[in-house]
Amino acid sequence: MFDLNSLLRDNIKRLTPYSSARDEFKGEASVFLDANENSFGSPLPVNYHRYPDPLQWKVKYRLAEIKGVPPQNIFLGNGSDEAIDILYRAFCRPGIDNVILCPPTYGMYEVSANINDITIRKASLTEDFQLDLEAIESAIDENTKLIFICSPNNPTANAIDKEAIEMVLNNFDGIVVVDEAYINFSRHKSFIQELTEYPNLVILQTLSKAWGLAALRMGMAFASEDIINIFNKIKPPYNINQASQELALEALNNVEQVNGWIKETVAEREKLVEALVKLPIVEKVYPSDANFVLVKTTDARGIYNILTSQGIIVRDRSKVELCAGSLRITIGTPEENVTLLQALQNIAQ
Ligand SMILES: *Cc1c(COP(=O)(O)O)cnc(C)c1O
Repeated sequence: MFDLNSLLRDNIKRLTPYSSARDEFKGEASVFLDANENSFGSPLPVNYHRYPDPLQWKVKYRLAEIKGVPPQNIFLGNGSDEAIDILYRAFCRPGIDNVILCPPTYGMYEVSANINDITIRKASLTEDFQLDLEAIESAIDENTKLIFICSPNNPTANAIDKEAIEMVLNNFDGIVVVDEAYINFSRHKSFIQELTEYPNLVILQTLSKAWGLAALRMGMAFASEDIINIFNKIKPPYNINQASQELALEALNNVEQVNGWIKETVAEREKLVEALVKLPIVEKVYPSDANFVLVKTTDARGIYNILTSQGIIVRDRSKVELCAGSLRITIGTPEENVTLLQALQNIAQ
């Protein structure tokens, strides 16, 4: 049985969160002398002298419309990485608890576990990069608090079968984190509409990829209101700055442009794959539901070095488990993809 309260660390259960000036007075007023801000203004064309909304309601209301989920079920972090760190700090006792990762996958789950002194148990993906449910099952013990599932997965680019994720959600009494950083490029549907069904589900998304806002640092977590309240208790009071909140809100009103880019990226991906598989230096292009492809080559390091010398940077993943010989290549603009292909064709000759 999933019981959020028993999963929570005792120090977090007992925690009295920081109460900011913005938390304590919320009404209308004309003279704000409660937060030790500079009352004169900012040395900028735009004023940033007031602390921002700690819970970023304007951004959340807009996201709620786009995602079809109530704003109370949304957490905003300084990148998804903040949400990942908060998950560890909320549920995992350092030196005691463990989490399950399914490599090859996103590196921050492991780094964040190490920072928080949490044991990692690995249940590697199968050869076709799907969940190994038996390995996951045998890795779970009474101190397993989180299972991270990345879908579409980085660096393999494929989506994880929905039924397998549901199997984990139904049979694990801890938190199942489904990282959907690349969901906008996928043929598979988001798990967001399943939130009401699974109290142990946390979905991560980000504005860093399809939304084109990596530099703003804004990640999202979607979960039950109880879990979101725990996140809000732990996060630094003003974790999303005013400029980021304003710019995100503005960007979220340009859904059409983003959807256009997603279509174009997917079309470019299909074109690129078609050309890549014809190259003699390419052994395999793995199926992609993301804005990148994992390409198995005859000589990953050699190709990487030649591309780099020409100012074309891809990611060498050849040292990663199950990814021997592989490069991870982000889909670029049509011009960038032509440049890449020409360079690869030259290497192939
Ligand atoms: C890029 C990426 C993120 C995004 O991290 P941010 O901190 O929001 O930029 C999260 N998860 C995965 C799997 C990613 O590849």
